[in-house]
Amino acid sequence: MSNTKVHVLDQTGYVEVLEVFGSDLTVVNAARVSFAKESQEFSEQDGKLVRYLAKHHHISPFFHPQIHMRIKMPIFVAREWFRHQIGFARNEVSRRYVDSPPECYIPAAHDIRARDPKLKQGSKSEPVDNADFAESILMDTTSTAMNAYNDLLKAGVAPEVARMVLPQSMYTEFVETGSLAAYARLCNLRLDPTAQKEIRDYANAVAALLHSRFPVSWGALVENPTVG
Ligand SMILES: Cc1cc2nc3c(=O)[nH]c(=O)nc-3n(C[C@H](O)[C@H](O)[C@H](O)COP(=O)(O)OP(=O)(O)OC[C@H]3O[C@@H](n4cnc5c(N)ncnc54)[C@H](O)[C@@H]3O)c2cc1C
Repeated sequence: MSNTKVHVLDQTGYVEVLEVFGSDLTVVNAARVSFAKESQEFSEQDGKLVRYLAKHHHISPFFHPQIHMRIKMPIFVAREWFRHQIGFARNEVSRRYVDSPPECYIPAAHDIRARDPKLKQGSKSEPVDNADFAESILMDTTSTAMNAYNDLLKAGVAPEVARMVLPQSMYTEFVETGSLAAYARLCNLRLDPTAQKEIRDYANAVAALLHSRFPVSWGALVENPTVG
């Protein structure tokens, strides 16, 4: 499962598992230490215990498994992703140092969703009527920004200043380590239909990866979201 990479959005974005610490058994044995007990193999009884813990928000045993990932996502998604702080460590590429050609996410015409007058936040699931026109505006504006960035670099401007013209659609890359509990909180919030589609795509990728590695614990955490 380590180094499993799932592509997201236009296939430039991805979520890659670099290292995993723990399993469903780690959760069980963190809980069983209360009784000075330990399971050697995950049993049906252990499954019941995991579900009991999640149902009653006895959350600390789920802090022990740790997942280390490399993630590439557009800045407008990362702004939302980084709001989830408790239980995570992150380090991100710096455009003060890096001046390689930026990559931007440009949704295909069918993903340029129309505004929904009934929603304050969010969008319709259907594309806007004139999606091809909208796509051409996105492409032209992105290209103008890229040219401006390159012109500024060529004029001797420092990368940390030249980056000011780059759009929110630009991809950023970071490594992230989080506990199973932290990812469950993030995914429960960002898999909700009220969350933006692009962050839902990333939350779906992470959820699938963690479900395959922690099937019992992940299932229990998703069924019993923590609140507050
Ligand atoms: C659909 C959606 C729409 C959103 N819209 C907006 C928006 O319009 N504007 C905006 O600014 N944000 C918005 N957010 C972000 C939201 O307010 C949270 O910052 C984000 O969801 C992270 O939540 P978290 O519980 O994972 O936070 P974390 O910071 O990771 O905290 C985890 C938990 O620790 C506890 N905690 C953390 N900090 C404190 C504290 N200071 N005091 C007490 N307890 C604390 C809480 O129990 C919290 O749930 C939105 C989120 C979602 C899912």
